Amino acid sequence: MSNCLCCGPASPGRRGFLASAIALAALPAWGQTPPTSAGPADSGLVEDLVAANRILYDQGVVDGFGHVSVRHDKDPNRYLLARSMAPALVTRDDILEYDLDSAPVDARGRTSYLERFIHGELYKVRPDVIAIVHSHSPAVIPFADTAVPLRPMNHIAGFLGAGVPVFEIRDTAGPATDMLIRNPSLGHALAATMGTHSVALMRGHGSVAAAQSIRHVVFRAVYTEVNARMQSEAMKLGTPTFLSTEEAAAAAKTNDGLVDRPWELWKQRALGKA
Ligand code: MN
Repeated sequence: MSNCLCCGPASPGRRGFLASAIALAALPAWGQTPPTSAGPADSGLVEDLVAANRILYDQGVVDGFGHVSVRHDKDPNRYLLARSMAPALVTRDDILEYDLDSAPVDARGRTSYLERFIHGELYKVRPDVIAIVHSHSPAVIPFADTAVPLRPMNHIAGFLGAGVPVFEIRDTAGPATDMLIRNPSLGHALAATMGTHSVALMRGHGSVAAAQSIRHVVFRAVYTEVNARMQSEAMKLGTPTFLSTEEAAAAAKTNDGLVDRPWELWKQRALGKA
């Protein structure tokens, strides 16, 4: 028997009313029908997403907080992200599918990350982006909280060369938020600040990295943190000479062809095989 989620069964009695109430409770808070699924994602893609969660923890980018997503390989209007949990504990079964409004296709009773809108809203405006990391990695925060720009210290961080914008949540939502990107409009504002850049910082909070694949975005998230440590050290000694815009662009192009090398190492290490 079909039971319409909007109007309940054809002959509503008390049982029908209860069934409708239960069905409505399972819907997203804004009362819309859940989005349809794009179908099963590529198995290797899901494996990489699980590995990325483990690697980002092992490399000190995420801790109990932070997340990594990837666009669905069958539909650019869907993305994959773990349920709300510590990244180091993510398994294949924890991966959920979302539409770009960040509504889960089928939450299976699981909680979603409050800040999933970082992912959905950036995917909407950046068709070039296939994977996104949000983290609170600690060496980066000083550059989000001061006027000192994060700039590329060495060739590995060439992807920072076009500049690293800083998102100020007060400009969008006033002086009294909990700092979280907890709705679509905040996600949209963050994406607008990020523009076409690879990385954006979030004042008082963390950062976002975006790239053309899971492996590339993990590379960028790891080396954003490494670069921030290097830059803080260098600034204790004097005034660093940073890569020029041209050097950074050339280095980034080279490095984009080399991301599989650290990925294999990090993956084996994070999965306990190295
Ligand atoms: Mn956060």
